[in-house]
Amino acid sequence: MTRKIAILGATGSIGTSTLDLVERHPDRFEVVVVTAATNSDALAEIARRTGARLAVVADQARLGDLQARLAGTDCRAAAGEEALIEAACSEAELVIAAIVGCAGLKPVMAAVEAGKTIGLANKEALVTAGALMTDAAAASGSTILPIDSEHNAIFQCLAGSQSNDVSRIILTASGGPFRTATAEELETMTPAQAVAHPNWSMGAKISTDSATLMNKGLELIEAHYLFGLPSRSIDILIHPQSVVHSMVEFVDGSVLAQLGSPDMRIPIAYALAWPERLETPAERLDLKAVGRLDFDAPDTTRFPALRLAREALEQGGAAPTVLNAANEVAVAAFLAGNIRFTDIARIVEDSLAQAGYLPPQSIADVLDIDRETRLNAQTSMKAVCN
Ligand code: NAD
Ligand code: MG
Repeated sequence: MTRKIAILGATGSIGTSTLDLVERHPDRFEVVVVTAATNSDALAEIARRTGARLAVVADQARLGDLQARLAGTDCRAAAGEEALIEAACSEAELVIAAIVGCAGLKPVMAAVEAGKTIGLANKEALVTAGALMTDAAAASGSTILPIDSEHNAIFQCLAGSQSNDVSRIILTASGGPFRTATAEELETMTPAQAVAHPNWSMGAKISTDSATLMNKGLELIEAHYLFGLPSRSIDILIHPQSVVHSMVEFVDGSVLAQLGSPDMRIPIAYALAWPERLETPAERLDLKAVGRLDFDAPDTTRFPALRLAREALEQGGAAPTVLNAANEVAVAAFLAGNIRFTDIARIVEDSLAQAGYLPPQSIADVLDIDRETRLNAQTSMKAVCN
């Protein structure tokens, strides 16, 4: 029996790695739905190649082009927000959530509410609506399988254990491209330098988040919601080789880690085949060649995003939603060349300080807070960047 899958964000970095695996195992998987933001050309090519039956482009203006490119196939073209939600709730039993940012929230929530199994890469969706999403998953019976490599590592280490036997989880962080840069050097780092990650090849937004360490901050919040642990039980360690993908410490003092070469196809394969495993072409780990594994405490003075994310998690309520929205605005402004690298954390900090929202009770509340924060972040940008 093949497993039917939907890939939300099929044209991106995670989408491409997912397709690579699925196409190596045609006996096990069938791609039935694919989506993209605007690139109707690449999306149509993927739909033709995989034989998908529904292709959705978020940008309505690209629908005509998508339809033209899919003419003569059995694949239906659709566009817009409602179509993305339809894509998330299709006949697929497994939904790979690989849209970047809060833009993925509604489709991911729709898939969760429909009781799908979710391969979750889109960490921003969980960060911005954490408790609402985990409650919805508990109510519908949806299983969320983490694709983020750290959370996937923890998920693997937790297999077969009782939650009250866990004392702590340790998220590892590569430290990003600016791990050894001075505070002065950070001021002048460019988008091209920020997206040149030493170990991983990823989309521009998460690459920038890795450079500020906001990625690890979002992952801290993601881990809290996925594994139900308080902030004090989630530690972060800088580990420049990206070989140990994360660790779990148990009450008896045992520590389990998951190791592997830095290739996202390993955690994606785990989500695709769970509870089984899937062969991947990922390079085999050669510890002799790696030679040594280093670990260090993160520096929250040079990388304040990590402190801000922990504060947002501990504050709770609307704070993680504000943190995420302000960060999305700031990263986009940085990538567009409008602000300095170090302004990203300044904008997030100012946005958190200005925000006075009640805790969101619904996805509509989350989206309201997200929208208002985005507007206010523009004001923060003028106030803190000069
Ligand atoms: P990417 O930019 O390469 O791809 C993003 C995908 O989402 C594309 O298919 C794009 O068309 C689609 N998309 C973007 N904006 C959209 C919108 N407004 N509406 C609908 N679709 C939209 O990003 P990526 O690196 O593949 O990352 C995807 C997600 O996975 C992110 O949340 C990221 O944090 C997470 N993640 C990525 C990696 C990685 O190695 N790339 C690792 C861990 C987690
Ligand atoms: Mg990660």
